[in-house]
Amino acid sequence: MTKVIAPIGIFRKDPDMLTIHWNDGTVSDLKARFLRSSCPCAVCVNEWTGEKMLDESRIPADIKPARVLAVGRYAMAIHWSDGHKTGIYSYDYLKKLEPGVPASGPGKGVSGV
Ligand SMILES: [Zn+2]
Repeated sequence: MTKVIAPIGIFRKDPDMLTIHWNDGTVSDLKARFLRSSCPCAVCVNEWTGEKMLDESRIPADIKPARVLAVGRYAMAIHWSDGHKTGIYSYDYLKKLEPGVPASGPGKGVSGV
């Protein structure tokens, strides 16, 4: 039984961190800078060769997601504080970047029996 992976909640615990709660019960913490440097858009990655066009040294150290917008049911667009806004991150891609950990720890964290 496979289920389409999707977030049930997206939170910003820190300004430079996106925390995604997934519908499979896991939670991924994604550092803003890591996400920005993993941007899959045609400006950052050559569509044909897969070569990375983005110069990571040009990403501001204090990069932050300015806006996070849902794109259909399968992805989200992130508008960055450096003005970059063409990146669309599919949920599959995000889940591969950071598979996450079970939300409530091992054994589901249920107390008692
Ligand atoms: Zn990009």
